Amino acid sequence: MNARSPRLLIALAILALLSSVAAAQEPPLRSITYQLSMSRPVSHLFEVQIIVELPEQLKDKPLQFQMPRWSPGRYAVFDFAKNVQEFRANGPVTRVDDQTWSVATQGATSITVSYKVFGNDLSGTFSQLDSRHANYNGGSIFMYVVGHKPDPVKLKIQPPAGWKIVNGRMEQSGQTEWQFPNWDILIDTPTEIAPDWTEDIFVVDGKKYHVVVHSLGPEGGKRAALVKDIEKIVRAEVAMWGAPEFEEYTFLIHFAADNHSGDGMEHLTSTQIIEPGALADAGMYEDTLGTVAHEFFHVWNVKRLRPQGLGPWDFTRPANTRGLWVAEGFTNYYGHLMMRRAGLWDDTRFLKREAQTITGIENAQGSRLMSAEESSLEAPFLDDAPHAQLTNLRNTTISYYPKGELIGMVMDLLVRGRTNGKASLDDVMRDMYEEFYLKSPNNSYYLRGRGYQTEDLERVASRRAGFDFSDFFKRYVRDVEMLPYEKAFAYVGLRLVKTQAKEPFNAGLSIEFDDPRAAVVENVRNYSPAEDAGLQSGDEIVSVAGGKPAKDSWLKTLARFKTGDSVPVTVKRDRRTIQTKMVLREPERFEYRIEEQPGATAEQKALRAAWLSGR
Ligand SMILES: [Zn+2]
Ligand SMILES: [Zn+2]
Repeated sequence: MNARSPRLLIALAILALLSSVAAAQEPPLRSITYQLSMSRPVSHLFEVQIIVELPEQLKDKPLQFQMPRWSPGRYAVFDFAKNVQEFRANGPVTRVDDQTWSVATQGATSITVSYKVFGNDLSGTFSQLDSRHANYNGGSIFMYVVGHKPDPVKLKIQPPAGWKIVNGRMEQSGQTEWQFPNWDILIDTPTEIAPDWTEDIFVVDGKKYHVVVHSLGPEGGKRAALVKDIEKIVRAEVAMWGAPEFEEYTFLIHFAADNHSGDGMEHLTSTQIIEPGALADAGMYEDTLGTVAHEFFHVWNVKRLRPQGLGPWDFTRPANTRGLWVAEGFTNYYGHLMMRRAGLWDDTRFLKREAQTITGIENAQGSRLMSAEESSLEAPFLDDAPHAQLTNLRNTTISYYPKGELIGMVMDLLVRGRTNGKASLDDVMRDMYEEFYLKSPNNSYYLRGRGYQTEDLERVASRRAGFDFSDFFKRYVRDVEMLPYEKAFAYVGLRLVKTQAKEPFNAGLSIEFDDPRAAVVENVRNYSPAEDAGLQSGDEIVSVAGGKPAKDSWLKTLARFKTGDSVPVTVKRDRRTIQTKMVLREPERFEYRIEEQPGATAEQKALRAAWLSGR
């Protein structure tokens, strides 16, 4: 709908006037130049210099430099300012608050500030400088000038001798200087600097793809095959969405070989992917492709088609958005589906993966307590957030990733089923991309288009499907009802089978076995047999059913009992020994699998084939 009422036009004219007045109050800076050097890699200290040229009107106003509290794509607050040290300027400096430094300009037309920032985490959010490389994510090292995030910025990098720079905005090899339209794009450009990364290139529909790999362990000769499989994923996703908006795109992939670093982070023209093992290790190849399928889908869903609230951002407080179950959840769904469409998984593998997600969500207590939209609003607490105080989040929350994945799958099947295959969620997503990205007027300096509300998706899906999705959104998106899986799967001749798990009881108890000396109660589910028995998190378990619990066998021990039986438990708490009994209730753990519906018709099978193949 494009018709606009005269009243709306007047309101828009006033808004335009107001924003030009606001802009007139604070003219852009004449230039902002970032210089990044790393003279002592083993210190993990990035050296940042920011040179600001001031226009006449601003030369008597203090300039504020601010470290963001968090950075896009990860919603937890990390307070990057905690790693800043030695802030200096060519004017008096006042630390205003935990994230802000103010510099008095005193009539100067050029202000230079410098600081160091510590970084020793290889991730999609933090930064790492060490003897092997520099890998940075701009939000964790670059301050912005308050009030001037929209201004163009220049970046100059001075790498250590023999180290080469690469990122998703290279214009030529050996480049050391970049011009960005604004600070947001500067920090959307993660960068790798090392002597020994490799680069492979492929072309799809005239667009160039760079696969940059920094292997910190053996590759086992698998890199060439990896690049070929990445190309298959790119082809499958481009086939759904159409041509991406960029000319070139870069996969920045690390095989960290440190057994702990792992991440994937989306950007406009690149992605950072970090795997904990070496490429030669079992499972790493597959894992990387799964992450590639997810992150590349973000080129459209989240980086360009985005929920309201996702850019430009206020970095003094966490982002609040209702749409992460679409942004991340649908991306999870399509990440898996694209592995199938790219020919890297078969039907069985894909259906098994979705059944695993159903098992996870339907066994979680939080599923009946937290809706997909609430989960999205709690992202600052959930998305890798550090918690100094103990929380009950394990019992009360679900993640918008798997919940959104299942909403996406069920919506897709309902649209396909109700339209006899004439439409699908693919169409809905393309409609959304067109309406909110390609054809919507820019509502900020940051990026084309504007953010959508979840009500917009409800409307676009209803229009495409030819039936009203409002009841669906009310029950399954904004409330906590179990999704209508059976109805959805029936359209494609499949059914969901729920079975009791082989180890059906856990009494609501989860046990931490990290310390070889003691098994400790990690979590007690609310209203569970373990809670009724008086067990608390932190209790050291001496015995369950007469024996010391072991990681691999304690659920098997419980499986020897049946509903109504009492299981003796002994724990140590506050230097006392406590004996109690857990009375087992109905089985608590279930498994789900998706299987062929007996007597599935040719029409159902054809719908299924279209769904899985994308044709
Ligand atoms: Zn590296
Ligand atoms: Zn994602």
